[in-house]
Amino acid sequence: MQIDIVTIIPAVFDRVFDESVLGTAVKSGLITVNVHNLREYGEGKHRTLDDTPFGGGPGMLFKPAPLISCLTDLRNSGAPAPVIGLTPRGHVFNQAMAKELAAFDRLILVCGRYEGFDERIEDEFDLELSIGDYVLTGGEIPAMAIVDSVARMIPGTVGSSDSVICDSFYDGLLDHPQYTRPADYEGYQVPDVLLEGNHSLIEQYRTFNSILATAVLRPDMLAETELSAGDKRLFASQLKTLNN
Ligand code: SAM
Repeated sequence: MQIDIVTIIPAVFDRVFDESVLGTAVKSGLITVNVHNLREYGEGKHRTLDDTPFGGGPGMLFKPAPLISCLTDLRNSGAPAPVIGLTPRGHVFNQAMAKELAAFDRLILVCGRYEGFDERIEDEFDLELSIGDYVLTGGEIPAMAIVDSVARMIPGTVGSSDSVICDSFYDGLLDHPQYTRPADYEGYQVPDVLLEGNHSLIEQYRTFNSILATAVLRPDMLAETELSAGDKRLFASQLKTLNN
């Protein structure tokens, strides 16, 4: 997959795609990330990109011409790609969207700054995405978050595909609690079932605790999740045992 990122601060991306899991995915050619400096499309001697809002108000806005001309160049080069504007008013990004976006050969992500975009730029976006109901200074951190989670969905990026499938949100549930050595940390003990090597019981423990964690911490999410008949039975019977 090719990902093009449009920003006025390309330097903030310098190390993000060089290290760890993403770095390996880039080196192995699973993803290619091109960071484009919007300043190159700025107007006049000072490469101006922004101006004050008509009607008054605080801050500056991206002017339409530089960004639209950058997007035209990107659309005219390479494979077709949805243009995704990063905006606080966009659809709130989630794991299901990460899976859907991972199916594209190419994505173009546009990072805002200042007070945001002139509305005529927003008409150029095929999709607007937000990473949550809060306002950041710019779209660069949202772009990093989206690239990271989309890349994880591309087979081969994460060493074991099991670790992606078992992650929170993948199947509409939170991850179950996990433990590593020592089995006893200052009296805080790992549940016996995880130490006894019975894989069927371990699987049941994990399924039950995954559903339980979601019921307690994210009941909104559980309400949207279709549990299998077997998982419903398992949850009900283990809950009964717990209550007795
Ligand atoms: N005036 C804008 C508003 O109230 O919606 C906020 C502009 S914000 C300071 C500057 C840029 O940061 C935005 O254009 C957008 O690209 C990015 N941004 C801020 N918060 C974001 C979020 N939650 N999700 C995605 N992008 C965000």
